[in-house]
Amino acid sequence: MKRLIIVSNRLPVTVEEKNGRVRFSKSVGGLATGLSSIFNRAADRWIGWSGIYASKSFGRTLGKKLTREYGCYPVPLSQKDVQLYYEGFSNDTVWPLFHYFPQFVVYDDEAWERYVKVNKLFADTVLKVAGKNDNIWIHDYHLMLLPKMIRDRLPDAKIGFFLHIPFPSFELFRLLPWRKEIIEGLLGANLIGMHAYDYVRHFLSSVKRLTGSETNLGKIYHANRVIEVDAFPMGIDYKKFHNAIHDEKVKKYGEKIHKETKGRKLIISVDRLDYSKGIRKRLEAFEYFLSKNPEYHEKVVLIMLEVPSRVKVKTYKTLKGSIDELVGRINGKFGTIGWVPVWYLYRSLPFNELVALYKQADICLVTPLRDGMNLVAKEYIACREKSGGVLILSEMAGAASELVDSFSVNPNSAYEVCEAIKAALGTSVKEQNERIRNMQGLLAESTVQRWAALFTERLERVKVRQASLQSKALDAKSTKKIVGSYRTSVNRLILLDYDGTLMPFSDKPEKAYPDEELYDVLNELISDKKNEVVLISGRKKRELEKWFGGMKMSLVAEHGVWLREAGGSWVLAKNIKQKWKDSIRPLLQFYVMRTPGTLLEEKDYSLVWHYRTADPELIVFRKNEVTETLLQYTSNLNIGIMEGNKVVEVKNLGVDKGSAAMHFISGKIYDFILAVGDDITDEDVFRTLPSNAISIKVGIGHTNAAFILPTYNEIRAMLRKLKRSGK
Ligand code: UDP
Repeated sequence: MKRLIIVSNRLPVTVEEKNGRVRFSKSVGGLATGLSSIFNRAADRWIGWSGIYASKSFGRTLGKKLTREYGCYPVPLSQKDVQLYYEGFSNDTVWPLFHYFPQFVVYDDEAWERYVKVNKLFADTVLKVAGKNDNIWIHDYHLMLLPKMIRDRLPDAKIGFFLHIPFPSFELFRLLPWRKEIIEGLLGANLIGMHAYDYVRHFLSSVKRLTGSETNLGKIYHANRVIEVDAFPMGIDYKKFHNAIHDEKVKKYGEKIHKETKGRKLIISVDRLDYSKGIRKRLEAFEYFLSKNPEYHEKVVLIMLEVPSRVKVKTYKTLKGSIDELVGRINGKFGTIGWVPVWYLYRSLPFNELVALYKQADICLVTPLRDGMNLVAKEYIACREKSGGVLILSEMAGAASELVDSFSVNPNSAYEVCEAIKAALGTSVKEQNERIRNMQGLLAESTVQRWAALFTERLERVKVRQASLQSKALDAKSTKKIVGSYRTSVNRLILLDYDGTLMPFSDKPEKAYPDEELYDVLNELISDKKNEVVLISGRKKRELEKWFGGMKMSLVAEHGVWLREAGGSWVLAKNIKQKWKDSIRPLLQFYVMRTPGTLLEEKDYSLVWHYRTADPELIVFRKNEVTETLLQYTSNLNIGIMEGNKVVEVKNLGVDKGSAAMHFISGKIYDFILAVGDDITDEDVFRTLPSNAISIKVGIGHTNAAFILPTYNEIRAMLRKLKRSGK
């Protein structure tokens, strides 16, 4: 049966131990609420840390109870594990780096090693619970290695990953010594979700730079799989907040707030006390507002609810100290006997009191310096009725891209925040209500329940799409058939591409020379008189001659420009010209100069611009520029522009690998034709083949070939298998 396996650092049930007795309580956070709407306790599974350290004494009974009553499987973590993996690598390394605070990042090998170890422990628990048909949904930055660890042991698993914090720009991410491992870990998933498109963009950029894998419209072609990445902004349980405003307790508490603040304009801010939330800057901005607008003295109150977080960590202690000081300074400077400008609560509030605060507030000031999403902003909007209310929202919060009717501010600018407060106080209730209504419309639709459903549905679809791409994967049955027809045939034509098909790519084309194993494979093939082997390459004839000139096989160079029958000499495929090169060469040289990491290769009848080692982001622009310029210059010449694997090639029209293949196919009657290739230029061959021919593409992607094999290794193995069967 298909089940949902949720994996997160913490379970949705908090377990506490006091005097040897264990207490269970349900978590009430947004994520737990959202996922509970799709989580079936009886059938589904939730894997995570229970909150208490693993110990033999009650580990087993605790586990049983959690499983039986909550569908939860605890991962056994020791105190040291939690200290190094959670407080250490997750919160002292990943958190500050991903929130753009490189100055706070701790690079500690021991913490990293423990992060790897704990991710393995999670993988072990997942593997105990999950079957190959289950949907596995992994959450957040604590478990970024887990997708690959599961994939390695359960290759067909359906794995989704959601990152709840920002993914930083490559300029930040590259600071991490373990960046490659993190990217590879994440790419074990089938679907990767993030809160905002900017994070997706950054992630794709890091993938391109660190793995060289192709990415296209949110799809990554990596390790012979397609991974989809997309923005799924998480919502809130809208009804829960909106309905609560009519609750009696909420009303009573609201009246109390109104009375205590003496009906003054109320500004609130609510967050965990974290440096990413911009609390200091916010206070400075409020101080600036008070100093510039004395007419608002005694008329406004700022209530700051700061929920204690990571209290033992030094950076947080220092931050807390500086906030205490700043609040004191502002109240000391502006306060009067009857007016305290900043009310500062350092604790968390029960749900009803929090809703009352949202309900009473004229302005909600949400100014994080960086925030993956920010739910407070959404909760405030949900708790408004017809009494107006203004959300001042930092443009650095993930929620900013959705809540476009908020007052947007740069949190680093005290001036902007001050102006926004002033504008908010001066905005008519009618306009406030209009803005609130627009945002409520969105939030009532894009709820956390919808978010969870959207992600899991997409995970199903991604897998189906992937399955259709992999439907061409050459399986044992088809291999057997191919081997069978090879064995019974007497006139065989084998058309092989070279780069990417028989050899892996290298930084520089000249470094990808054939190895011993390849010579063995080819020699075995050509030793059979029934075989005619043709190497159809884009390489220069000089290189092919050097590497394969002494072997009894036919060669095709420059994508079909030059042909050499086995044992014969090189002939031009067609009467083509090369004078055009003189006018195009300087153009390409200009782009080589302007684009570090690119190079120009000159062949007899073509010019090739290679960009394998260039900056992949820059290439997106430059490639367009190059092709557009080339199009202008080549419009009255009989030459074409062709894109290959990390190359743009300018060459004569009407000559390609397809025409070269045709030359050989039409020369004789063959009862077995096999063509193998990996890139766009090989598609010309696949298109040309007669219907009874066998075609294989190397690597995943759309193709005219009948079959796909993952890498050159499998191709070599396949050729060996054919040869052996023909003995
Ligand atoms: N919150 C709470 N009790 C409080 C104050 C806040 O439960 O006293 C909740 C609030 O309702 C919100 C969450 O804490 O759902 C904060 O989420 P947000 O995305 O704003 O920030 P995070 O802490 O996840 O970085």
